[in-house]
Amino acid sequence: MLSKNNKIDCPRCWVKMNQTEINVLGPNIIIDVCPKCNGVWFDKGELNKILKDRKLSDYLTKDIGTQTKSKLVCPRCGGLMDIENAEELEVDVCLNCNGVWLDQGELEGLKTKSEKGFHGNKEEKALEKWEEMVKKNRESSFNRFIRKITR
Ligand SMILES: [Zn+2]
Ligand SMILES: [Zn+2]
Repeated sequence: MLSKNNKIDCPRCWVKMNQTEINVLGPNIIIDVCPKCNGVWFDKGELNKILKDRKLSDYLTKDIGTQTKSKLVCPRCGGLMDIENAEELEVDVCLNCNGVWLDQGELEGLKTKSEKGFHGNKEEKALEKWEEMVKKNRESSFNRFIRKITR
């Protein structure tokens, strides 16, 4: 039986989550399941191993911008999380460690989308990339300003 170092608390109910071993192609993975709300936590890369849909899992965990619309705090690293949309499904993703929180039923929802062929919303992703760029630009001009006045 594989095990991860630390048991984590459910970001919704704050109870210890159960570790469940899942058979996938390659080494098995352990996911964390909340005994109370049946929400599931996936560490980085684990969602892709279960969905076997790189496009969909990348869509949810890459180019996630910097906004934090989610009210959850990452159970793995304590980082801020954001809500990513796969059409009507809202998935919480950690901006720091790229872990993914799925409420009960959302994994099935994602699977269904994957089977139908999910293409995502390019405009929404483009907007997030743009926001990211603007933020980086703002930070670098701020840094230039700081360097100027501290010289
Ligand atoms: Zn829970
Ligand atoms: Zn995290």
